[in-house]
Amino acid sequence: MGYQVVIVGLGPAGLMAARTLAKNKINFLAIDNKKKIGLPLKCGEGVREDKFVNFFGDKKYNFVKNKITEHEVIYKGLHRVVVYNVLELDRPKFEQWLAAPIKSRIRLKTRCDDIKTREDCIEVITNKGTIKSDLVILANGCDFKFQKKLGLVKKKQIVILGYGGIYKVNNVKQDRFQYYFNDGFFGYLWLFPKSRNLANIGFGALNTNKSVKETFNKLLRRHNIKAKQLSEYAGLVSCSGPIDKTYDDRLLVCGTAAGFVHAGTGEGIYFALESGKQAAEIAVKALKNKRFDKAFLKSYEKGWRKEFGKGMKGGIIFRDLLFLGLRYKKVGFLLKNPTDKEVKDMIINGKIPAKAKLAWFIGRILLLCYKNSKQIQRL
Ligand SMILES: Cc1cc2nc3c(=O)[nH]c(=O)nc-3n(C[C@H](O)[C@H](O)[C@H](O)COP(=O)(O)OP(=O)(O)OC[C@H]3O[C@@H](n4cnc5c(N)ncnc54)[C@H](O)[C@@H]3O)c2cc1C
Repeated sequence: MGYQVVIVGLGPAGLMAARTLAKNKINFLAIDNKKKIGLPLKCGEGVREDKFVNFFGDKKYNFVKNKITEHEVIYKGLHRVVVYNVLELDRPKFEQWLAAPIKSRIRLKTRCDDIKTREDCIEVITNKGTIKSDLVILANGCDFKFQKKLGLVKKKQIVILGYGGIYKVNNVKQDRFQYYFNDGFFGYLWLFPKSRNLANIGFGALNTNKSVKETFNKLLRRHNIKAKQLSEYAGLVSCSGPIDKTYDDRLLVCGTAAGFVHAGTGEGIYFALESGKQAAEIAVKALKNKRFDKAFLKSYEKGWRKEFGKGMKGGIIFRDLLFLGLRYKKVGFLLKNPTDKEVKDMIINGKIPAKAKLAWFIGRILLLCYKNSKQIQRL
């Protein structure tokens, strides 16, 4: 047997899993296709302050660039400010810091091409050969091909392309994130300051028929955002919510690979860190008990559902309401009506107000009727 555990993918989920395994003195190997940890950047880099401090005990790290206290939603004439603390990171430096204590266990430029479960081991087939272990933690981000092959995901995944970059800006309000909504785009443009003169600005939407970069630049002009691009990124965000099953024999899936992204906002760093940690903790238990079967590994699902399952469900409802609002030009209603507490509860804790839930339910029934009537017409 090569290793006790192999981790595939070293974003926040895989790195957090690796740190947890190292703490528990597990013999593991962590592989990633990329050349350098943390690069290329493909993210808005915002993370919840309370959860971050819970994980790392502090927030005074050189990769924490800014503390945000206000979130401003902008849609036509509407400006809505909600108070909630978020940290704006330098994510490449954050991931390099996460990787530092486990450097000797990492193999970069190593691409997983297949995963095969055997009776006595699990094989990770890579461009550099086959690696055997007792267990695999799959944390390979927004690519669901292994999960599909293993029957862990059946539905077609909703995936959004995000485009943005780091920008020189002029004297922005440093403690405020801004979110710009526009009719016709099922998504939003974000401006996350790192300082008064530097910001991460990006845009993600479902139905951008034109080039996402072109639309992004058009929206910058429309909202009169004066910014000079220093670097650019493009990346995929999963908006379907959790996959059907996040475990299998000898396998645990975490982070975006498990669909752990808030389906309405695209937030995923916290869910990646938490699920990576939980997956590793279950792996430690499995190794202790020599139990690698799915019946034993199932307890992983209980754990993440308890921690953020409600948030995931709420994210899906929030996404659908947002799409409906944007489609029927009623997003002002959705953004204006809830109280500040309700908005925070919806986005942070996945608690959807009863009225909004009812609207979502009616919306789903109408959509179902519409689909059925189309089918009947075709018949
Ligand atoms: C444009 C954009 C903006 C975002 N903004 C935010 C934000 O502001 N805040 C927030 O919380 N979330 C944000 N997210 C979401 C967040 O980036 C993800 O949820 C987070 O990166 C998930 O971490 P992960 O470790 O699961 O996956 P990833 O960070 O995607 O890491 C997966 C790793 O697996 C590797 N890999 C993939 N396939 C293979 C393979 N076959 N073999 C080996 N290695 C492989 C990749 O190289 C990568 O390093 C954003 C996402 C995008 C695209």
